[in-house]
Amino acid sequence: MLESVIAEFRQALGEQHTLTDGTSLERYRWCTIPIERNIAGVLRPASVEEIVQVLQIANAHQLRLYPISTGNNWGYGSAQPVQHDNIILDLSRMNRILEVNTDLAYAVVEPGVTQRTLYEHLQEHRIPLSLNPTGAGPNCSILGNTLERGFGIGPNGDHFLAQCGMEVVLATGEILRTGFGHYAGAKATYVYKWGVGPYLDGLFTQSNYGIVTKMGVWLMPIPEHFEACYLICNSEEQLGPLIDGMRQLLFSGVFQGPINLMHRNRLLLMRQRYPWEEMSGRTPLQESVAARLAIQKNIGTWNGVGAICGSKTQVRAAKQRIRQMFRGKVDRVSFLSDTKLQLLQRYPNIFGLLLKMNIPDMLKMLQASYGVLKGIPTEVALSLAYWRNRRTPLPASEVNPARDKCGLMWFSPVIPMTSEHVFAFRRIIEPIFTKYGFESCITFTAVNQRCLDCTLPILYDRDAASEVQKAQECHLELLRTCKQHGYIPYRLGLQSMEQETTRDDVFWSVVQKIKLALDPKGILAPGRYAG
Ligand SMILES: Cc1cc2nc3c(=O)[nH]c(=O)nc-3n(C[C@H](O)[C@H](O)[C@H](O)COP(=O)(O)OP(=O)(O)OC[C@H]3O[C@@H](n4cnc5c(N)ncnc54)[C@H](O)[C@@H]3O)c2cc1C
Repeated sequence: MLESVIAEFRQALGEQHTLTDGTSLERYRWCTIPIERNIAGVLRPASVEEIVQVLQIANAHQLRLYPISTGNNWGYGSAQPVQHDNIILDLSRMNRILEVNTDLAYAVVEPGVTQRTLYEHLQEHRIPLSLNPTGAGPNCSILGNTLERGFGIGPNGDHFLAQCGMEVVLATGEILRTGFGHYAGAKATYVYKWGVGPYLDGLFTQSNYGIVTKMGVWLMPIPEHFEACYLICNSEEQLGPLIDGMRQLLFSGVFQGPINLMHRNRLLLMRQRYPWEEMSGRTPLQESVAARLAIQKNIGTWNGVGAICGSKTQVRAAKQRIRQMFRGKVDRVSFLSDTKLQLLQRYPNIFGLLLKMNIPDMLKMLQASYGVLKGIPTEVALSLAYWRNRRTPLPASEVNPARDKCGLMWFSPVIPMTSEHVFAFRRIIEPIFTKYGFESCITFTAVNQRCLDCTLPILYDRDAASEVQKAQECHLELLRTCKQHGYIPYRLGLQSMEQETTRDDVFWSVVQKIKLALDPKGILAPGRYAG
């Protein structure tokens, strides 16, 4: 960037929020995908007014800005722009919770509000509402995740469905308010999603059409009673009946949010590192070793978890219905409540002897999934990113897989929720993982009654050049083959965006036309899901 332009940004934002030196830019380059972009600088505005000033300068000099909220888009690109030489617009200083409405169960947040900030705010003010955290941990942005149409596993799991009302600064510097938000004094902006006229909010998710500066998010009133339901299958034969039963229970409203279904391998890698020694350095993990480790750790072949909540009577009825549905079909159906959890914590030795289990170890995992379902953000799931990382120990807190040079790329296709589709999909992906020397570590999340969002991590050792290359090839082949069979990802990583979105297709050409209309100079996030 020219010195004169830097001086203009400094004038607008102050020196300490206009970063251009290598050391300050370093953290924005951390990435779990083996791609490094040149970053022209980082700007850290604190208000909409400052963003508008930044845009004036960017427009005058034809500069490209890449907005991020907290930049922890791990496995999809972290904070990095899609193209080289963008200036990152880091919005993490805009971190105010602008409103929490207890009666109507919503909050209005800025981009820098993290899962932790909102959770602690609700706790501190004893507000009987809960958020729906993702597994990405306390330091991730609620707004940033929603713009990627991410999801959690508790009630209100599909984050874009739980979004209502946005404020967006367009590339021209105009400020757009969606829904009813553009009517002075509108009362229902954060309680009615659609407004009147065309519905625009979706345009600002997975796109590069604007800088989102404010968003309404629906929260969940704390129910009278809550329990987590765990479903364990010890054989592959049980997966079909489990999927079909899950779908029926979701349609009948027995579960209030998504059900998360994890393969044994997925749970294993959240509990330990790759056993390099035992495998004598070979990959992928041998089936017999995986099976033995899973038995040691009480992990089933398939492991489901979902929330049931309501009045005590409703929860009792839901538990009965779940038991009936899965009787004889899965190996174990169990429920965890606050009371049970406290007992396990208080008497780990007694329960350990009774259940023949390592209770402290089991509690760690139970508390994590139970907590997430209840709206408590935790770092527990982040350990998976360290599976093949040989050099960095898992930090006790402030886990950051990008900083710690973990190798992780997500591939996240959507599958219709029938056992036929699940088996057809597995027949495609599992041989590809094996071919490249990786474990297939499936999670299926039933984000609604009809489909499963499948998140598949490709976990590799970033220090081993051959593994890095295999990981890239594996990702490409998964994407290409699954697309041929009709299983398309719900979200893309940095490495796939340009290739996917420049295809000759009416959909992507309309996307380009809208981009041209809203941002004719191509200032904002070039290449992000559009030109
Ligand atoms: C172990 C692990 C578990 C994970 N679990 C989950 C999970 O359960 N669910 C899930 O969805 N994801 C998950 N992730 C993926 C990812 O880490 C999260 O989605 C995370 O929330 C995204 O990062 P962020 O919140 O910092 O958003 P950001 O990185 O700030 O934003 C994401 C993208 O949105 C755009 N953007 C952000 N803010 C703005 C803005 N204000 N205006 C315009 N554009 C903007 C940018 O292009 C940015 O690159 C997981 C990752 C790991 C490693």
